[in-house]
Amino acid sequence: MTQRRGLLIILSSPSGAGKSTLARRLRDWDRDIVFSVSATTRPARPGETDGKDYHFVSEADFKQMVAAGDMLEHAHVFGNFYGSPRGPVQEAIDAGRDVLFDIDWQGAQQISNSVLGQHTLSIFLLPPSIAELRRRLESRGQDDAATIAKRMQKSWDEISHWGGYDFVLVNDDLDATEEKLKSILTATRLRRSQQPGLTDHVRKLQAEFEET
Ligand code: ADP
Ligand code: 5GP
Repeated sequence: MTQRRGLLIILSSPSGAGKSTLARRLRDWDRDIVFSVSATTRPARPGETDGKDYHFVSEADFKQMVAAGDMLEHAHVFGNFYGSPRGPVQEAIDAGRDVLFDIDWQGAQQISNSVLGQHTLSIFLLPPSIAELRRRLESRGQDDAATIAKRMQKSWDEISHWGGYDFVLVNDDLDATEEKLKSILTATRLRRSQQPGLTDHVRKLQAEFEET
């Protein structure tokens, strides 16, 4: 019946709270969701692929993209630059596809305050406890002790911005959080602003009504 307008879905949390895991589960649930691949000046970690996990770029190239207005948002995180390229996002939402962003609070704020704000759904994930956050970072086995300590130190800075988000989920039980996330997305897709075809549909109903 009605075509849909794409949503910008923002997932933020302190590192280790479960963003990537839940983002993967959402995409397994709906293969039409597009991941926004950020550009970053940080070096690739072992196992990361350029163009898939991030676009790994030089600082000069990053600044050039910002100056050209090619970034939807950008921020300085953990001593490196990160940003979301605008083109692929616009293309996807114009085609009625949702775009999922794994970005920090600074990026979330910039997108929510932009002209695309009314098509944005922002969700913040909190860990059940700080001890569990540390346990998850350690069990992920991705970082050395120094990096984990740095991430833990930064986690309060990220958590302190929880109040700026549309929804906040405590990611205790993974399956339960996944279900809540899907419910939020299903409901938000039904916002009036996400259904541009509704006006025509109601006009059609009116015409039918007047015919009878
Ligand atoms: P982030 O992307 O926010 O840094 P990850 O998705 O990489 O976090 O999750 C960090 C670790 O915690 C991973 O090993 C993941 O499997 C685990 N994890 C995520 N959510 C839960 C949960 N609800 N319960 C237990 N472990 C979890
Ligand atoms: P990492 O280096 O561990 O992949 O990411 C570090 C932090 O940067 C995470 O909190 C992640 O959400 C954030 N981040 C990743 N890409 C972007 C981006 O494009 N914009 C912003 N604002 N933050 C990002």
